[in-house]
Parts: sequence; structure tokens; C-alpha cells
Amino acid sequence: MKKVAFYTLGCKLNFSETSTISRQFENRGFQKVEFSDTPDVFIINTCSVTENADKKCKKIVKEAQKINPDGFVAIIGCYAQLKPKEISEIEGVDAVLGAAEKFRLLDLLPTFQKSDEAQVLASEIKEARAFNNAYSVNDRTRTFLKVQDGCNYHCAFCTIPLARGKSRSDSIANIIKSAEEIAATDTKEVVLTGVNIGDFGIQEGKRVEKFVDLVKAIDQVNGIDRIRISSIEPNLLTNEIIEYTLTSNRFVPHFHIPLQSGSNKILRKMRRRYLRELYEDRVSKIKNIIPDSCIGVDVIVGFPGETEEDFLDTYNFLNELNISYLHVFTYSERANTAAPDMEGTVPMKERNRRSKMLRILSEKKKRQFYESQLGSTRTVLFEDDVQDGMMHGFTENYVRVAAKYDPLLINELKTVQLTHINDNGVVEVEEPEMVFETH
Ligand code: SF4
Repeated sequence: MKKVAFYTLGCKLNFSETSTISRQFENRGFQKVEFSDTPDVFIINTCSVTENADKKCKKIVKEAQKINPDGFVAIIGCYAQLKPKEISEIEGVDAVLGAAEKFRLLDLLPTFQKSDEAQVLASEIKEARAFNNAYSVNDRTRTFLKVQDGCNYHCAFCTIPLARGKSRSDSIANIIKSAEEIAATDTKEVVLTGVNIGDFGIQEGKRVEKFVDLVKAIDQVNGIDRIRISSIEPNLLTNEIIEYTLTSNRFVPHFHIPLQSGSNKILRKMRRRYLRELYEDRVSKIKNIIPDSCIGVDVIVGFPGETEEDFLDTYNFLNELNISYLHVFTYSERANTAAPDMEGTVPMKERNRRSKMLRILSEKKKRQFYESQLGSTRTVLFEDDVQDGMMHGFTENYVRVAAKYDPLLINELKTVQLTHINDNGVVEVEEPEMVFETH
């Protein structure tokens, strides 16, 4: 039996796709192993957003070569689509497959040979029109279910449309089938994943379905305890979606909503499709329905033209906003995007300073949110994540929780009381045996 190992960089979408490709290999008789188990085939699923994507890719290839010099090394993912030639020149790479080809890797493998020159199969991104469904199972306590791919927006900083192509989606009927398969496993939580999820519903270039209808349909699938939306653009997060998810039994009160800048001037330059007033309105709408909802925010610092005043606009806006944490990104120039040609490049040192300020603000926001939750009773999904005798998990509203390790709790949903924040910034819970509900 041939052995195959995977390494995934980047987002939840990549994890769901690696998982599906690995199942294809297992169904064809491959044994899925760890990198260190001397696999015959190494598959590296890359990301173009990750800082130093090229360096990381090189490092992993080198590691693979060290483990098995005769192993076959294939590179897929966003970076493979954007820079196929550059990757093919990395020593030790045997094949590079683009967005339109990656799901055919298993079929193509027998046609590849190990030689001095890597095989490159990366068509132009406009060829990536098919939707390949994917979900991760058993890799984690939660499953990432891919419902949408690609993006038709043209944000000035973003390479994702170039790496993943146009917006396209699975049909609701197919997604429900996948959700039922997932429900039949022991998976407790499903994370709906995509590039621009709110834009769900385009099939073969035509809008035929709506995200809110997917939300309503998947909410009816028995056997799934929790459903989370990975991230949704504020302009696509409608009142109907907010109201439905916050009153459903299965959707959790947690939204991750990219903001990117709190300055309207910068939002316009970024070609985002909303202004800060709309964002504020979305946050109030959510918080008015469920005040304990968790709201996460993506924000970019150092975009061209961002003056100190613009940055402070963002800082003060976020400081005032009732949100729970930030994901801070330091702007970095990407080839073939509009931003690098804009005036007002922000020096890297300044970008880093702004990033640090927002990271500190994020810690403050998170702490405030966690403090507001102390004393409340929540449901925790415990993960297989044990450190120093403690295990971890998340509440429905995304509070990271620690409890004394008990192997029986792994992948279990338990009701706990949140007691205090420990030195690691994680919320500890009452002695589980004392407060857990019996099932
Ligand atoms: S919405 Fe903007 S940032 Fe998000 S994937 Fe599309 S182009 Fe990129």
C-alpha cells in the first residue's frame, strides 16, 4: 500500500479541500500517514495570503526530501495557482497543480514521473469554473464544509480572486447531502466555509440560490449540534440572516465580519462595498438581539494612503465598537493587485507599529468580552487539545475555555459555568463533574 501525507497552509477552505483530496486517495487504496512516516507521496496545499508563502513552501519541500528523497512532491493551492513557475523551480518539487487541476491530482499522479523538471499543470484562473465540494471530517472536532468558492469582488489588496477564480457555489441540495453525511459521523460542529460566503448561490455564472435559504435548510439537518458561519462580508450580512441565525437552535451566536478599515476614505480606496456606518449598524443589530454574541473583526493596517489620522480613525472606531476580538493583518504588497500602485506607501516600521497597537486593542477587547461572560452557563465543545493536564474547547459564543483533562470529554458538548480567566487568558470552568448535565 502506498503512503501519502499532506501539509496544509492557510485558511479553513484549504483544510476542507485537503481533507477531501485525502479521502480520494484513501478510497483509492493509499494509506494516509504523517510526514515523518516516510510517505511515497507528499502533497502540500499552499496559501497565497500567508506571509512568506514561498519560504514556507521551500522549507516543507526540503523537509519532505530529507524524509524520503525518492518521495513524489506535489504542490497545490493558491500559491501554486499564482506562481506555478516559481514553485516548479524549487528543488525537490515534482508537480505543481493549479486551481482547475488540484482535484484531479489522484488521476493525474500515474502520468507523472520523477525527473529533474517539475510537471506544471496550472491553467489560467478563468478555467477554474467548476465547483468542487469539500469538507473535513475527523481531522478536527469541527468540520469545515465548503459551500462557496472564488470571489467577484475586486478589493484592491486581495489576490484571492486571482488564485481561486470567480464566485461559484454548491447547490443547497448537495450541501444538505454532505451535511447529512457529516451528521452520520460523530462531528458536533459544522463551520460553513467559503471565500465570500454571503455571495453564495451562483452556479455556472448565474445566481440561482441565496445564502439565507442555505442557512434555513441546513438548520433542519438533524444530528448536527452546532453550525457556525466562518466569515461574512458586512454588506451581505442581511437582517434576515442575522435574525434567523440568532433565533435558530443550531446556529451559534458568533459572527466573524471583515471590516478592514474604520476610515471611510481607506474603505473607498480598498474598494470595499460598505462604509463604517453600515458596519456599526450590523454590530448593533446583532448585539440588540443577543448581547452575548461574539463578534470578530478582520482589519488591515498600513494600506497605501493610510495616514496617522486614518489609522486613529480605525483605532477609535474599533475601540468604541462592541466587538470581541480582532484579526489584525499588516498590509503587504501583492503582485497584480491595484493597491501597490497607489500613492502613500506606509513604511514597514510604521505598519508594524500600527499592527502592534491593534493587537493590544484586540487583547483588551477579548478580555472585556471574556469578563462579561464570567458567571454565565454555556455549552463547551471540548477538543483533543491537552496541555499541562488541561483540555480546551470553545463555548457557542466562542469563549476559549480550559478544564481539567478528562479523556471522556473529548468531542463532547458539556454545560459548564465560566468561573475565572487564568494566567493564559483562557476561561476556566467549574469542576466539570459538578455542573455537567448528564446525557
Ligand atoms: S471580498 Fe475582497 S477581500 Fe474578500 S476574497 Fe473577495 S476580493 Fe478578497
